[in-house]
Amino acid sequence: MSMNKSPDEDKPPNEDKPPNEDKPPDEDKQGCLQPAENILISPNFSSSCLVHGTFNRHGGVSPSPWDSNNVSFGLGDSSENVHANREQIKKALGFKHLVSAKQVHGSNVYIADDIPAGDLEVNGFDALITNVPRMGLMIQQADCQAVFLFDPEKKALGIAHVGWRGSMENIIAETVFAMNRAFSTEPADVKAAISPSLGPCCAEFVNFRSELPAALHGYQVRPDYFDFWAISRDQLCAAGIRPENIHITAICTRCDQNFFSYRRDRVTGRFASVIGIREA
Ligand SMILES: [Zn+2]
Repeated sequence: MSMNKSPDEDKPPNEDKPPNEDKPPDEDKQGCLQPAENILISPNFSSSCLVHGTFNRHGGVSPSPWDSNNVSFGLGDSSENVHANREQIKKALGFKHLVSAKQVHGSNVYIADDIPAGDLEVNGFDALITNVPRMGLMIQQADCQAVFLFDPEKKALGIAHVGWRGSMENIIAETVFAMNRAFSTEPADVKAAISPSLGPCCAEFVNFRSELPAALHGYQVRPDYFDFWAISRDQLCAAGIRPENIHITAICTRCDQNFFSYRRDRVTGRFASVIGIREA
């Protein structure tokens, strides 16, 4: 699946832009990711200064069962393969550096306030925020959500790793509040997108009465199945983000074989969602 077209591409040319005959057509595309089969970009989320996308499991070098674009260390895949896959992602994004986290299903937010000397993986965080351009913030997934946040007014952004424990701890609110504290982000300005992740079709919690707080029981869509996309949407709204500024990709990673799924395969890789600011 490829959704690289910006929302304006289907409009007649120059409908809302002054003519610019001298510009190569690619320069008009929002974001700078080159079109590729393995990168999904949320429509209505693009901005000229924003680079973001979710890379599916294809296009990397790792062998089965991590085939092939596994971005996580410590799963049995070789670190050489993981480095090679991350290099390809950086090349596609146009960034020299990635900031990622050894995610722990907590709610700590890391502020990336400087471009690192090399790739940086911080320990014990599940959300990353920045207003520094020219580096990518990366979340690693196999059914959990990556929630993208972009504040076009303050040119700040964030990305959160949201599994069911993250939903319980409302890491989404923690990330929005952290952006407000660090960058004076107004939630009403923020655009948000929820990446491919476990859908209500497959989010089965047979022990939900003991595992999930009562406040989430209302999101049961049929016996034992829960809609975590709706939970995240409601948490975004409760944090002050406008409903019309929230995009849910609505791709279930357990159903769609193009993505790694822990629920489907158990031993598998992790795919990447990345966001960054293109320029100062
Ligand atoms: Zn599904």
